[in-house]
Amino acid sequence: MPAKTNPPCKDSDCGRRNTLLLGVLESMPQGVGVFDENLLLRLWNRSLVNALNLTPSAVLDGATLADLLHNSAGNCDYAPERLAELLDQFNTSAGALLNFQGELAQSDGRIHQIMGQPLLMDGKLAGYVTTFVDISEQRATQEREQLAQKVFDHTPAGIIVTDNAQRIISANPAMLAMSAYAPYEIVGQTIFALLAPDAALTPAIFQETIEQNRTWNGEISIVRKTGDLLPAGVRVNRVDDLNISQSSHHIWIFADITERKQAEERMRHIAQSDSLTGLPNRLALQIRLAQTLPDARRHNWQVAVMFIDLDRFKNINDTLGHPVGDELLREVASRLSQVIRETDFVARLGGDEFVIVLPGISAPADAATVANKIIGALSSPILADGNELHTSPSIGISIFPDDGNDGDTILKNADTAMYHAKSAGRNNYQFYAGDMNKSATERLDIERKLRHAISRNELALCYQPQFSADGSHPTGVEALIRWHHPVDGIISPVRFIPIAEETGLIVEIGEWVLRTACHEMKNWIDAGLQPIRVAVNISARQLRRRDFCEVVAGCLAESGLPAELLELEITESAVMENPLEAISILESIGRMGVTLAIDDFGTGYSSLAYLKLFPIDHLKIDRSFVADIETDLNDRAIAFGTIALAHSLGLNVIAEGVETEDQLELLRTNGCDEVQGYLFSKPLSSGAAFAFLHSRATAG
Ligand code: C2E
Ligand code: CA
Ligand code: CA
Repeated sequence: MPAKTNPPCKDSDCGRRNTLLLGVLESMPQGVGVFDENLLLRLWNRSLVNALNLTPSAVLDGATLADLLHNSAGNCDYAPERLAELLDQFNTSAGALLNFQGELAQSDGRIHQIMGQPLLMDGKLAGYVTTFVDISEQRATQEREQLAQKVFDHTPAGIIVTDNAQRIISANPAMLAMSAYAPYEIVGQTIFALLAPDAALTPAIFQETIEQNRTWNGEISIVRKTGDLLPAGVRVNRVDDLNISQSSHHIWIFADITERKQAEERMRHIAQSDSLTGLPNRLALQIRLAQTLPDARRHNWQVAVMFIDLDRFKNINDTLGHPVGDELLREVASRLSQVIRETDFVARLGGDEFVIVLPGISAPADAATVANKIIGALSSPILADGNELHTSPSIGISIFPDDGNDGDTILKNADTAMYHAKSAGRNNYQFYAGDMNKSATERLDIERKLRHAISRNELALCYQPQFSADGSHPTGVEALIRWHHPVDGIISPVRFIPIAEETGLIVEIGEWVLRTACHEMKNWIDAGLQPIRVAVNISARQLRRRDFCEVVAGCLAESGLPAELLELEITESAVMENPLEAISILESIGRMGVTLAIDDFGTGYSSLAYLKLFPIDHLKIDRSFVADIETDLNDRAIAFGTIALAHSLGLNVIAEGVETEDQLELLRTNGCDEVQGYLFSKPLSSGAAFAFLHSRATAG
């Protein structure tokens, strides 16, 4: 009690002490108000005036707390009832000689804590001392902390706070749910015990990064208590303690990204697989090569890449329709998958192109073994939509690192080797050889130029006369195409026809040949030539076209050439590709009056028995037999046997490539009906052919 602790004072002392006390009071940051026993204000300081926003002119002496607060009512944030309650509590506490504590919220946002303490004299209330302390700052901090705690407790993100050494100080409920641990199981552990080992985030790397950047972002897997991994996106921030210059805390925020990862995985699967066959696609192949080749390089392994293209697939697609083609591709995909081992890789690039990667072969021969297995696997017919389909693969093989140092080159070279397999007669495999690329580029070059050949008038026909075997009169001509390229000069049909067939350009070119041959022969006849046959070579690809008969009929109609003067030369292999279909097409052609010759006879199936099913008029003995007829007894036997057999079937036989009198003599005496060859005439330009035939006919 102040009265007892302070010694009684003399008047002069009292005055000085009073002044001192008033000075202390004025300098206090808190508002102080001393009320008398009637709770009327008697002593106050400037801080009180400020705290309550009182007008300096207000009469404060003798005011009650209610007066003060009402005076500051404009600033008080309380409803009248609340204010009344506060005052009531104040008065009651003072009346009961008790301490008072209350809070005053003001509309300017400040909050003051009001404390009251009774001054007693002889056990009675002598006064009531109140202080007004601004606790706005403290309260705001408290609220922020509470809010932070709420966020910590209720956010779906996992939060972990670690110390300087990355030991876990606390983890929020979401984090506990994510990790399936109870707090006591992880608090105190290093956080790295909770994370799947990751080369990109070792404790050392982490420490260095966070030291430098104060923050770290990434994706990492949480090892759950169950042992499963949970993929999470992570952000770590270093929170510095202002008092110590060293970092004090790290806040780790984890977001569960399982769903995103699953979606990514689904997208990856969709992006990397071929929807038709379910096999990996080109993108997947590129990724696989990018993974496999560096490994192989490190370990000195060889990797084989096999490029597989189905022979005659386009044929099947064109004639039987895409659904059948699709079914064929699915079956091929499944057979290829069965042939390879688990560590091998098969992809479909699109169309009828497949690629197999054999990682870690010990010798190229291993690839040859697989290639043979593939040929075997595709040799049995495939049933698709009631059709028995025959397909065969042309396989190109290139070996890493011998045939290329990167995925693209290896693949390109396997592709090149595949083209060689095709030109080597299909249904076989070829290893890549360094000089193949030259012919591959050459091939592309020809293809490019050929596309313009018709429109730029670079194509022409020449005609090689055919004669009766006694040489007495011409029986017909064979139209043979010539390509005069303005820069490259004459390009042989032996070079460009296979490319035209492969690319489908033969359809357009073939139609041009037919139309031109019909027109020229008609022109010759109109110009006075004795009517003779003109023979036109037809490719398998043309024969497969549904509109082939109409094209032939159209050319005849347009030109006015009588149908029986047109002959179509078709190779055995072309008709044997799809015999049933060929029979029906050739029958309709035959019905028009057009005649048919089997070209290059003896080089293909040579099944005369089968050929008699076709409405054929002529058989052309291939010039390779004729060339050897004088020296090779075997060839001679075949040639003569063929003539006899053809006659027994009622077919006329033409020998092509007759170059010598001896050949002619042998053929003639063995019953050959007609002959064609350099002995009589080389193929002649249109004008020369007309002149030649005209003179022969008039001479004969
Ligand atoms: P092919 O149908 O067997 O044509 C006969 C080929 O033998 C012609 O070669 C001809 O010039 C050549 N020849 C003729 N007589 C003799 C001879 O006594 N000795 C030798 N060594 N050869 C002779 P060409 O004109 O170079 O045609 C080659 C092949 O190109 C043709 O073989 C044919 O398969 C194809 N071809 C030519 N023109 C056409 C065409 O318009 N359409 C189609 N689809 N193919 C064509
Ligand atoms: Ca021919
Ligand atoms: Ca021929």
